[in-house]
Amino acid sequence: MLKIHSIETFWAHEWPGIRTVFFLQWCEFKCLYCHNPDTIAMKWWKEMSDEEILDIVERNKIYFGKKWWVTASGWEPTLQAKWLISVFKELQNRWINTTLDTNGFVLNNDVKKLLKYTDLVLLDIKHFDDEKHKILTSQSNKNTLKFLDYLEENNKKYWIRHVLVPWYTDYEKHIEDLWKHLEKYKNLERLEILPYHTMWVYKWNELKMKYGLEWVEQPSRENIEKCVGILKKYIENVYVRG
Ligand code: SF4
Repeated sequence: MLKIHSIETFWAHEWPGIRTVFFLQWCEFKCLYCHNPDTIAMKWWKEMSDEEILDIVERNKIYFGKKWWVTASGWEPTLQAKWLISVFKELQNRWINTTLDTNGFVLNNDVKKLLKYTDLVLLDIKHFDDEKHKILTSQSNKNTLKFLDYLEENNKKYWIRHVLVPWYTDYEKHIEDLWKHLEKYKNLERLEILPYHTMWVYKWNELKMKYGLEWVEQPSRENIEKCVGILKKYIENVYVRG
């Protein structure tokens, strides 16, 4: 049984295709800007069987045929890889595309098996500098970078997503360094830049949790364009999302 936090049955404004997104509970990171601080902890909305999940997908799929995608997102779906394998396998049997949206922290045998049934991986890399990654997320980036290597070595289709946070990741040197890390990855299909935003801060306040980036403003349009312009020198498929 999968522990599901919430479900979006018609998600059309992100990622390829129209899709159903299952948001799974739990996360090992504690990102300073997490958009859902209430769900990092181990409490869940609902346990669902494979049949219940497949039934929800099928009910929506009939309107869109083969363009349908299913994403397991989070918080962190790899923490429930063991229970996700059979769902992804059956989705592929039914010609439904599968996407894994992950921070890449866990790469055990279950995750490796899950990746066999995954059509696209969306890998979030919060920072390439390990010390700064720890400041932003509370964890080292070593596992995430190993995850990236594994995707490359196993010819998986993947996109990388990177949050542009003023003072942390939105300056020229960082963007140049970001590309220096990425240029060797031949299977990188697309790089998505996600400008940091403050629209979820109210959740931290409601939960009476201290928000660590109170002093940080959203990046300006000029700065986003400047960062994207630097990356465009090296890779055509750079997109700003969100
Ligand atoms: S990886 Fe995602 S869900 Fe986990 S703490 Fe960071 S922003 Fe939140």
